[in-house]
Amino acid sequence: MHSEYNYIVIGGGSGGVATARRASEYGARVLLIESSRLGGTCVNVGCVPKKIMWTASDIIHNLEHAEGYGLTIDAWRFDWGRLKQARDAYVKNLNSVYARLLDNSAVDVIHGFARFVDAKCVEVDGKEYRADHITVSTGGYPTIPDIPGAELGISSDGFFELETRPERVAIVGSGYIAVEIACMFNALGSEVTMLLRKEHLLRPFDASMRESLTAHMLEQGINIIPNTQISSVRKLNDGCLELVCSNHETILHVDALLWAIGRSSATEKLKLEAAGVEVKPNGTVPVDAFQNTNVSGIYAIGDITGKAQLTPVAVAAGRKLAARLFDKQSDSKLDYSDIPTVVFSHPPIATIGMTEDEAREIHGDAVKVYQTRFTPMYYAFATEKPKTTMKLICLGREEKVIGLHMIGMHVDEMLQGFAVAIRMGATKQDFDRTVAIHPTSSEELVTLR
Ligand SMILES: Cc1cc2nc3c(=O)[nH]c(=O)nc-3n(C[C@H](O)[C@H](O)[C@H](O)COP(=O)(O)OP(=O)(O)OC[C@H]3O[C@@H](n4cnc5c(N)ncnc54)[C@H](O)[C@@H]3O)c2cc1C
Repeated sequence: MHSEYNYIVIGGGSGGVATARRASEYGARVLLIESSRLGGTCVNVGCVPKKIMWTASDIIHNLEHAEGYGLTIDAWRFDWGRLKQARDAYVKNLNSVYARLLDNSAVDVIHGFARFVDAKCVEVDGKEYRADHITVSTGGYPTIPDIPGAELGISSDGFFELETRPERVAIVGSGYIAVEIACMFNALGSEVTMLLRKEHLLRPFDASMRESLTAHMLEQGINIIPNTQISSVRKLNDGCLELVCSNHETILHVDALLWAIGRSSATEKLKLEAAGVEVKPNGTVPVDAFQNTNVSGIYAIGDITGKAQLTPVAVAAGRKLAARLFDKQSDSKLDYSDIPTVVFSHPPIATIGMTEDEAREIHGDAVKVYQTRFTPMYYAFATEKPKTTMKLICLGREEKVIGLHMIGMHVDEMLQGFAVAIRMGATKQDFDRTVAIHPTSSEELVTLR
């Protein structure tokens, strides 16, 4: 027994929901299959609960400056359990919102784990579903290393399950998830140690940004140990974890260990081989510029492709694909260049385009860099005055802006508008011609010299 559709979407996360709804709006008969909670990583164990935790920690950072503004806060107490309850309820409501949106868009949804039978057919719980077009948007999950005792640690998924705040935490990893969680734990009151396999945090980012963030994190009391790997973990009688590092010289005792060493692609149980779909050794599914896999009629979008693993990228790629398949927009494809992004550290980093090193490597002396470092007026009465750094990377005589990197208070909300200008091909002169908004931090970007 089988059911016929025009379009089957495997995975109800950011990319899957977006492509399914859009295709249905174009008139396709669509089935979406989700094995867990609707909304995927972003809604359940990613962007959304992360931003809630970040906001809590940001409020705590701001409390430090209340006194300077004449506001005496005699006592405050952070209740991790209460925030978790509110956060879980918020996420649960979003799950229902997603279900409603899919229903309103007339997308059929089934809950279960999908496996390919052949290039036009998938199976869920013994029932087969057929379509001419099938999209894989199964995302990924956190990687746990293969060392003794690794299972005693948690991942970013486990971070969102914690009922109480651990007193001492070790975070292994140097990417944005590791950095964000380290900053949140620190602001919320935990003693944090980061263990980096190599020398630096956030290696692909502009060097000035990562150096500045490292300095901020050290000032906030986060302990960062570079060039270290954990060789084993064991639980001691008092319940705490003992981490032995590969050099055997460092032994750490912590209450929680969090692995943030990367994410694995959810392809292994999908039986892509039954459809003949190529999978790379790292589990990602290679696609061309139009999200086509090597098999005609099978597409992949989002994290599973290994490209720019961000929610808006998965959403945009999914919508473009639906337009191509079901709205005769034959050229519809996502342009993966100049994707703006933010690291929700304390302070945040906002970035788009080439780093200074990348630009110099490719364009040499044709690159001109404008940089400023200043104290936002917000810190007028503070004893600690964290600096904001902004860097504009320009190319050629016309000084086309090919990169913008910022770290500091509120840069997370500053970038989106500048990203529009940069994608439109703005030059330094365009920035200069724009009248500043005073007094703000963003005005520094149009007054750079
Ligand atoms: C801690 C954390 C913080 C993040 N913060 C941000 C952020 O601030 N901003 C941002 O843009 N991005 C952020 N991301 C990344 C973002 O969450 C992902 O890029 C995005 O969710 C990818 O969407 P997707 O559709 O590719 O996959 P997912 O959202 O992961 O969805 C895949 C879905 O497929 C389902 N599935 C898997 N296999 C099957 C199967 N065989 N059958 C049926 N269903 C299946 C899964 O259950 C899942 O629901 C964060 C990620 C993490 C982990």
